[in-house]
Amino acid sequence: MKTIGIVKKDGLEIFVDKEYIVLRKYKPACIFCNSVSDVTEYKGKKICASCFDDISSR
Ligand SMILES: [Zn+2]
Repeated sequence: MKTIGIVKKDGLEIFVDKEYIVLRKYKPACIFCNSVSDVTEYKGKKICASCFDDISSR
């Protein structure tokens, strides 16, 4: 059997977790804290609202 690894395509995320193959809808996660809530794109990077506040207040 081939290793599937991680595939991100068409909004779906497929990965292998030990003996399970997991298929779920892909949600963009913040590159800084991995949060998936309030994530927007900033200069090509995914960033959540609270990290964006952090950066923009500096
Ligand atoms: Zn964040």
